[in-house]
Amino acid sequence: MPVTKPRLFTAEADRPATPPAAVALPEVEAAMARVAGRVERTPLVTSPSLSRLCDQPVHLKLETRQPIGAFKLRGAMNAVLALTEDQRRRGLVTASTGNHGRAVAYTARELGLAATICMSALVPANKIEAIRSLGAEVRIVGRSQDDAQAEVERLVAEHGLTQIPPFDHPDVVAGQGTIGLELIEDLPELACVLIPLSGGGLAAGIAVAVKALQPSVRIVGISMVRGAAMAAAIAAGRPVEVVEEATLADSLGGGIGLSNRITFALCRDLIDEIVLLSEAEIAAGIRHAALVEGEIVEGAGAVGIAALLAGKVKPQGPTALIASGRNIDEAVHRRIVSGAAA
Ligand SMILES: *Cc1c(COP(=O)(O)O)cnc(C)c1O
Repeated sequence: MPVTKPRLFTAEADRPATPPAAVALPEVEAAMARVAGRVERTPLVTSPSLSRLCDQPVHLKLETRQPIGAFKLRGAMNAVLALTEDQRRRGLVTASTGNHGRAVAYTARELGLAATICMSALVPANKIEAIRSLGAEVRIVGRSQDDAQAEVERLVAEHGLTQIPPFDHPDVVAGQGTIGLELIEDLPELACVLIPLSGGGLAAGIAVAVKALQPSVRIVGISMVRGAAMAAAIAAGRPVEVVEEATLADSLGGGIGLSNRITFALCRDLIDEIVLLSEAEIAAGIRHAALVEGEIVEGAGAVGIAALLAGKVKPQGPTALIASGRNIDEAVHRRIVSGAAA
C-alpha cells in the first residue's frame, strides 16, 4: 500500500475547483421549478403501524410512485433540463445499470433526446431489457462497471456525448433535494428524516433543502453493513476504496468516487447520524413494507422502515422516511415476503 498522505495531496491537487456551497436552497428551488410537471410530486402517507411502534408520527415518502419506480428521475431530469441546447443535442450517456440508468433513459425519451447506457457483459438480461424498453441504446462493453465507465469516458472524449453522473453533480443533488421541499410543505413540523445512503446525492439534496428551511431537523443516513462507502469515507475523513459485496440493498452498492467533488463534503457536514443494517434487517423492512404497508419496496428503499423495526433509530418527533424505490427482482421479493431467510 502506498502511504496515504501523498495520495491525498495528489487527489486534492487534481481536483477541479468547486465553489464552497455547490448546492444550496436556491438551487433546489430552481430545480423544483424546472422539473415541475415532469416528475411525480409523490405522496407522504402515514404508517399507523410504525407510528405505534415509535410512539411518534411516522410517514413514508413514496418515491416508489415515480414513473421509473425510483426518485433518481428528479436528479436526472433536473440535470438534463439544465444543459445547453448543444449539450442536449450531443446525446446523453451514463454507465448506470440500475435506477439512474432508467432515469436517464426515461428523461431522454420524454425530451426527445438520444441516450446511451454503457454496461458490462455481466449485467443481467432483465436490467438490460428495462433500459432498452425505455428507448435507450444499450452498449455492452467489458466485464466490469469500470470497463463500462471507461467506455462512457471514451464516448465523451471522442464523440462529445454528455455524461449525466448518478450523484456527484450539483444539478443531480439539487434535483434530489426537491424531495426535501415537498417534505417541509407537507409536514412543516418535521423533526427527523431517514434517508437511504449510497453516493449521497439523495441525502445531500434533502439535507440541504430541509436544513435551510428547518435547521433543527435530524438527518439520519442509512446504509447496509455490506459495503457502506459513505460511512467509511466519513469515518476516514476522505473517500476510500470499499469492497463491493452482494446485498439486498443493491441500489446502495458501489463507491462514492475517490475524487468525489461534492456529495462527500455535503454528507459529512449535514448528516447527523449514520446507521448500518444487516441483510436480515433489510429483509424484514421489505417484508413489512409489503405485508403491513401494502407497498412493493426494494431493499434500498426499505432501509428506513428496517432501521425503525430494528430499533436502530429512535426518532423524537414527527418522522419521515424515504421509500426510495420499488425496482426489486420479482422472485427475490416473493422469497423475502414469504419469510425465507435473507
Ligand atoms: C440510488 C439509490 C439510492 C441512493 O442514492 P444516492 O444518491 O446514491 O445516495 C437509494 N435508493 C434507491 C432506490 C436508489 O436507486
